[in-house]
Amino acid sequence: MGVFENIKALNNRIDEICQKCGRNRDEITLIAVTKTKPISLLKEAQQAGEINFGENRPQEIVKKYPELDGIKWHLIGQLQKNKVKHIIDKTELIHSVDSLSLALEIDKRAGQIDKVQDILIQVNITKEESKSGVYPEDAEAVIREISVLKNVRIKGLMTISKKEFDVESNKNTFRKLRELSEKIDALNIENVSMKELSMGMTNDFEEALSEGATIIRVGTAIFGAREM
Ligand SMILES: *Cc1c(COP(=O)(O)O)cnc(C)c1O
Repeated sequence: MGVFENIKALNNRIDEICQKCGRNRDEITLIAVTKTKPISLLKEAQQAGEINFGENRPQEIVKKYPELDGIKWHLIGQLQKNKVKHIIDKTELIHSVDSLSLALEIDKRAGQIDKVQDILIQVNITKEESKSGVYPEDAEAVIREISVLKNVRIKGLMTISKKEFDVESNKNTFRKLRELSEKIDALNIENVSMKELSMGMTNDFEEALSEGATIIRVGTAIFGAREM
């Protein structure tokens, strides 16, 4: 199947899941994860109606940004401080903020172009050493520190589930992220919203939606398998 058919099937599936778990489709954003994929396929996805694209490498956003109009770009992978200046004028939402020092750099660069950059705090629920993200017990402190910055705004939390895990374990990860989000929301920290929960990929977006995801990040189900 081509990208067009894949997107149609995926959206039908999302509609079904929403009905099943009593969620409003309008409050869910599908991000088409375009990493490693050529512009021609991105254009197909755009023609099929997708406008939210996600990349895990800043340099890919830099490269693809001028090729397409009207796309909302999401950075979903690790961001090094020295790369912030290259993407700050291009990103709708940065999903992967996991330290005060990174947030400070984003705040500085956003300030220089009069932008308030929306961000999510990435949480390492499963505490894998290979993964970035703050540990759940450190999230509140980091969020409080970042919340005082003028040119970044925290909109919620993000996590990456374990590909090798079965979906039930991933559901557990998603539930923990939602519970953390509710806990932080109840603190009513000024300038901090817990509206967004970015979680769920091709293998487990159904579980993520049933646990309250507002943003799902799907690559393979749209563009097929990646070579790397
Ligand atoms: C690659 C990637 C995805 C998409 O994964 P698929 O299994 O292809 O849907 C989602 N989130 C992040 C952070 C990724 O790096």
